[in-house]
Amino acid sequence: MRRWNGWGDDSIIYPVPSSAISFLDRLVGPVHQPKDMSLQEVLERVPKSRLPKHSMVSTDPLTRLNHAHGQSFPNWVDMRTGHINSFPDGVAYPMSNEDVTDLIQYALRTGIHLIPYGGGTSVVGHIDPIKSKTPILTVDMSRMNSLIDLDAQSSLATFGAGVSGPDLEARLRAHGYTLGHFPQSFEYSTLGGWVATRASGQQSLRYGRIEKLFAGGRLATPLGELILPSFPASATGPDLREMVLGSEGRLGILTEACMRISPIPEREDFHAVFFPDFLHGVEAIRQILSAGLSLCMLRLSTSNETTTTLALAGHENLIGALERLLAIRGLGEGKCMLLLGFSGKSILVRTNRNEALNITSKLDGVHIGKTFGDQWHKNRFRTPYLRNTLWEMGYGAESLETAIDWGNIPQMVEQIQTAIHNSMSTFGERVHVFSHLSHVYPYGSSVYTTFIFRLASEPDEILTRWHSMKSAASNAITALGGTISHHHGVGLDHLPYLAAEKGALGMAAISTLCHQFDPKGIMNPGKLVG
Ligand SMILES: Cc1cc2nc3c(=O)[nH]c(=O)nc-3n(C[C@H](O)[C@H](O)[C@H](O)COP(=O)(O)OP(=O)(O)OC[C@H]3O[C@@H](n4cnc5c(N)ncnc54)[C@H](O)[C@@H]3O)c2cc1C
Repeated sequence: MRRWNGWGDDSIIYPVPSSAISFLDRLVGPVHQPKDMSLQEVLERVPKSRLPKHSMVSTDPLTRLNHAHGQSFPNWVDMRTGHINSFPDGVAYPMSNEDVTDLIQYALRTGIHLIPYGGGTSVVGHIDPIKSKTPILTVDMSRMNSLIDLDAQSSLATFGAGVSGPDLEARLRAHGYTLGHFPQSFEYSTLGGWVATRASGQQSLRYGRIEKLFAGGRLATPLGELILPSFPASATGPDLREMVLGSEGRLGILTEACMRISPIPEREDFHAVFFPDFLHGVEAIRQILSAGLSLCMLRLSTSNETTTTLALAGHENLIGALERLLAIRGLGEGKCMLLLGFSGKSILVRTNRNEALNITSKLDGVHIGKTFGDQWHKNRFRTPYLRNTLWEMGYGAESLETAIDWGNIPQMVEQIQTAIHNSMSTFGERVHVFSHLSHVYPYGSSVYTTFIFRLASEPDEILTRWHSMKSAASNAITALGGTISHHHGVGLDHLPYLAAEKGALGMAAISTLCHQFDPKGIMNPGKLVG
């Protein structure tokens, strides 16, 4: 069963090895187990629904609690301490396009607000109900999840937008296809959520971000249905898909999406190479990209992240042997791990791998084979479960991300980390910060930073410290000219920084677009542009 106050299936526990416990203790100090509020106690706080009756709407308290939050850090504090500020007044599960239209008409008629809901995996507050006098209905799309059409000749598949990652892939794989979109939230996130947040999967280097995969679809809006036909290409003015991508539930509800699919690759290999330092790794990525090699993934960890990965891996003997081997090859303290993924026809996988490893070895990279890469691939949807274990020990874990051109990557990594350290030191606390580059482009890269810190004893104090670190990092990102989000979206948490990126005219244009489709402002108000 899905955890009501954390990540994932409650039968899955991510153990932290004792070596990692002492590692964290050394870096941020000893912790105390926090006291979580029980489910029963939180359920007692769910207020009476204010919604007028509707046959599709459930007002069951547990259902409303489960839709009251996503996975942002403030959501975690609320869930665990029970201080949830606002609940949706009800949840509807439409099963057809007609049901969705009916719910929008009900909202217009009764003057309520709607929040489209995919898998609830937003990490920036996209689906949080904002406390107001207006009743709020969350529209959970999970029952609109069928494969509507598969056009093998054109490599296009149309799905109900509520389909989850595993269901979508299982249906395509049965026909020999894949979408190739694997965000780390894959287990629970949905097609509609991916489109509405401009998501990016771990193998975007081969398959592209969701923007490239989204060919068209149907959006139910308060002013009627917007149909986006799927053309291979078109020169008919601005591309209307771009309005829907990243619309964060503000324009309407995506009911169907037509997606560009690929044959399942014959072979997939994941390799690891260690470099003496971060800059050698960055140069290797740049050379691999400019050589035009075909890879499905390149992920470079900073030395802090490399050390953390090795500490969390457990298997002390094996890791000890690896450290000794790397030391013999001259790689010590500052070493950085690069994971390289290859997929496609076996012969091409081999050629691309050999060429890429040639480049890495000329830059002093030490190739250690496939063990680490295979482990990463096997556990890639398990890592988020670590957040549950860390919280239960007394640690908060949070991540943030941006993207910027190559020339600014080293400064960006450094300035985000420094900003987080400095802000935590004002509380007399330490924080462990580490980063990686995981979505790379010829012109630049994403930077993904994780920070682990001790939980304070009071919820307000936890949030004050988080807010201080988050805003310091966000200000560092905007000051250097990075985007406030490479793939998490805007939601509530990034809203204060959006104007710095879009400008006043750009913000006005987005607001006008929302108003065009939703003149009464019933769709997910308060998100994206406030
Ligand atoms: C552990 C973890 C790992 C993550 N890893 C990644 C990652 O690798 N890459 C990445 O890009 N993101 C990642 N995320 C963030 C999150 O998974 C994405 O933002 C995802 O796209 C959200 O999808 P969802 O279905 O859960 O949408 P929700 O969280 O339910 O909603 C997100 C937004 O989309 C809107 N929306 C949802 N469905 C529809 C619809 N049918 N029509 C209109 N609007 C809709 C909602 O109104 C809301 O504004 C991660 C999150 C977690 C918790």
